[in-house]
Amino acid sequence: MIETLRATYRSGLTRPLDWRRKQLNQLDLLLTEHEQELLDALASDLGKSAAEGWLTELGYLHSDIKHTLKHLKKWSAPRRVSQPLMAWPGKSCLYPEPLGVVLIIGAWNYPLQLLLSPLVAALAAGNCVVLKPSELSPKTADLLAKLIPEYLDQQAVWIQTGGAEVAQQLLSERFDHIMYTGGGRVGRIVMKAAAEYLTPVTLELGGKSPAVVLADADLKVAAKRIAWGKWLNAGQTCIAPDYILVADEVHDQFVEQLKATITEFYSSSPQDTEDYGRIVSAGHWQRLVEYLKDGTIAIGGDYDEQERFIAPTVLTDVDLESAVMTEEIFGPILPIVKITDLQQAIDFICDRDKPLALYGFSKDKAKLNQLTQATHAGNQCNNDTLMFMLNPELPFGGVGPSGMGRYHGQFGFDTFSHLKSVMSRPFWSDPNFRYPPYTSFKQKL
Ligand code: NAD
Repeated sequence: MIETLRATYRSGLTRPLDWRRKQLNQLDLLLTEHEQELLDALASDLGKSAAEGWLTELGYLHSDIKHTLKHLKKWSAPRRVSQPLMAWPGKSCLYPEPLGVVLIIGAWNYPLQLLLSPLVAALAAGNCVVLKPSELSPKTADLLAKLIPEYLDQQAVWIQTGGAEVAQQLLSERFDHIMYTGGGRVGRIVMKAAAEYLTPVTLELGGKSPAVVLADADLKVAAKRIAWGKWLNAGQTCIAPDYILVADEVHDQFVEQLKATITEFYSSSPQDTEDYGRIVSAGHWQRLVEYLKDGTIAIGGDYDEQERFIAPTVLTDVDLESAVMTEEIFGPILPIVKITDLQQAIDFICDRDKPLALYGFSKDKAKLNQLTQATHAGNQCNNDTLMFMLNPELPFGGVGPSGMGRYHGQFGFDTFSHLKSVMSRPFWSDPNFRYPPYTSFKQKL
């Protein structure tokens, strides 16, 4: 299979922009013609509501494809740069060329978006692609395995379902780039395997993303935006706020606002609303239920093993050394920690791994700037959560343990391209001052 893709790549099939446009349009058509089946698969895998499935997966992909098609000509054109006097006359440019055959390994929490958005970028850049969806969202993976060969050029795109063994088998092959989305444990396995062939990698990982709520924040709006970012997809979002650092003087008020918001969003019985998802697997459900003992349950705390349900839950008085405060939660449990001031929040964040996302809530721009300047994070969003994902002009990616590399918009196109530097010079001017013999006159030049 990989040899076929390699031969396709060598044949030049994927180079013309018309071929790339056709693949992107076909992918768009797949999403349109099978919208209901895809939404049903997401509901089956994650209890995802149709509205959430549209907003965070299908709708997101449609706009990603539209944006890419709109800019493809410009992104793929040679990018002229200036020419130094010493090399004059001549021209220099960056020439985006595809990388070849690339491997994309997806995660289960947004099983369409996290597999297909990298695919959009890789196809736009003119590559052949092997897709490996996560086995933890099997309905979506199986549906994609059926549809992708029907819509996309089978000589250039291959989808392989299966679990860790299949991923490892794929990783033992040589690729020209690997993009992996998932946890850091497997991220290390991917990077080790890639080292064998010196294959470049993009690792979209996770971690504990903090939200800082200062005393001057609009607590009602902050609670709504944090609740939306946290309990979307039942908390199984890599950039969901993992924990809150809240100014102690507004702590109780903020918890009250969260309580009112949760009831407004999901009613007083979240298990019965269509808008609230389920935990992906029994193993993850078990892991999450264990966290409930690491603090005082201020809101929620109900669970149901059969349905893999855990209510939107807020923990206060958490033990900072406990699992809920040291491991990535990746579920609907939100611990809240009191801080005395911004500096304490900054120290708390800097004492831990660089997060994928950081959220600051305050009316004071100077304080938000201080938060930006004094901390590291893959992405920061002030007075909101998750919304930066909607801007294709902003690259998405982690830093340090939360990942390496970036994508979205042109950053995705560039990730799957090599920007070859090309300098071209005419024959007509050839002064000999740089050629030997290096006479004393030349050395003075
Ligand atoms: P997962 O279990 O779905 O694994 C991801 C992929 O790795 C799957 O395709 C799986 O088959 C493969 N895999 C599993 N074990 C493997 C092994 N031993 N060798 C090779 N491949 C293997 O994903 P997960 O880790 O449960 O996902 C959750 C994590 O992903 C969280 O940490 C979350 O923050 C992170 N995440 C990050 C992003 C992002 O865009 N940065 C998005 C979603 C999730």
